[in-house]
Amino acid sequence: MIPFLDLKAINAQYRDELVAAATRVIDSGWYIQGTEVKAFEEEFADYCGSKHCIGVANGLDALTLTLRAWKEMGKLEEGDEVIVPANTYIASILAITENRLKPVLVEPDETTFNLCPEKTAAAITSKTKAIVAVHLYGQISPMPALMQLADKHGLLVLEDAAQAHGASMDGRKAGSWGHAAGFSFYPGKNLGALGDAGAVTTDDEELAKIIRALGNYGSHKKYENLYQGVNSRLDEMQAAMLRVKLQHLDAETKRRKSIALAYSKGIIHPALAQPIPASSTFESLENHVFHLYVIRTTDREAMQACLADAGVQSLIHYPIPPHHQQAYGQWAEQVYPLTEAIHQQVLSLPVSPMMTDEQVESVIAASNRFEMH
Ligand SMILES: *Cc1c(COP(=O)(O)O)cnc(C)c1O
Repeated sequence: MIPFLDLKAINAQYRDELVAAATRVIDSGWYIQGTEVKAFEEEFADYCGSKHCIGVANGLDALTLTLRAWKEMGKLEEGDEVIVPANTYIASILAITENRLKPVLVEPDETTFNLCPEKTAAAITSKTKAIVAVHLYGQISPMPALMQLADKHGLLVLEDAAQAHGASMDGRKAGSWGHAAGFSFYPGKNLGALGDAGAVTTDDEELAKIIRALGNYGSHKKYENLYQGVNSRLDEMQAAMLRVKLQHLDAETKRRKSIALAYSKGIIHPALAQPIPASSTFESLENHVFHLYVIRTTDREAMQACLADAGVQSLIHYPIPPHHQQAYGQWAEQVYPLTEAIHQQVLSLPVSPMMTDEQVESVIAASNRFEMH
């Protein structure tokens, strides 16, 4: 059996370090807003190349609180339009609607699954105030062009970098391009805690302060409340786990990339569309950290069965597009043909950094044996 992602095996590699870090926290007697969070925030800001990092409870809160802070700053108002890819994971959109802003769903680029500057530009109206650029599956969005577009129209850009820790473009990492970025450290993400965790990165000091206050009951100072805030903090235990995991992130990403390269060269089935060209190299993949390796096929069910027969676990990211979710029933009549096709055709192959070369070869062989019905 080749599991999709063996979290137990991933974390077992660092068991001694994780136990030492957990012990340090237990013995400190200090579990919220202490030295581990402060150190992780500095280390992660440094890793991303941004000035500030604010730890929060999860990735959804990172996005929600950033938009909320922009409202508190008077930069956004209820009803403002926010452009977001139609094919994103639901959390990107929940953050927008939670703030009573209006999501404007835009079809993605057909090959990268991310926003493209042309379709984004076409969706801008006088009410557009922000863009949520989701770096889906681990590939960074075309940030230079999106930032240029945002500058031209005076828009805020929030990166949803929940899947793209360490992806970069022109030597600049995800999290350092937009006016702010939200990260998730959900256990299955490339940088995963041992529970829920998230963070915002930004160069904007005022924004950082407001997000920090919002996540702490709206308080900058004990018992003084500037905002009607929430409780959304990264805790000392998860921060300590993340400090260990951050040190190994680049090595894990490198392994993910080598698996992706092997797939792109080895899987030569004409009915399986690869996310990257077979000619890709490590150098050409600076923009992708392969949170997921997502192929497309018009007979996904048969392909998934074919992999299962070979003992290979595959998953679908994601089976239902946001505009067809019951939660957003008001969009049921809207039509996004590319997004709908993507949701019908995508299949994620395992790219766990724990996979052996032999397992990678098995996935390739099983894929090439696929027979369409
Ligand atoms: C995981 C994820 C989130 C939400 O992160 P949580 O930590 O699970 O709240 C947001 N956006 C994207 C694209 C994600 O993949």
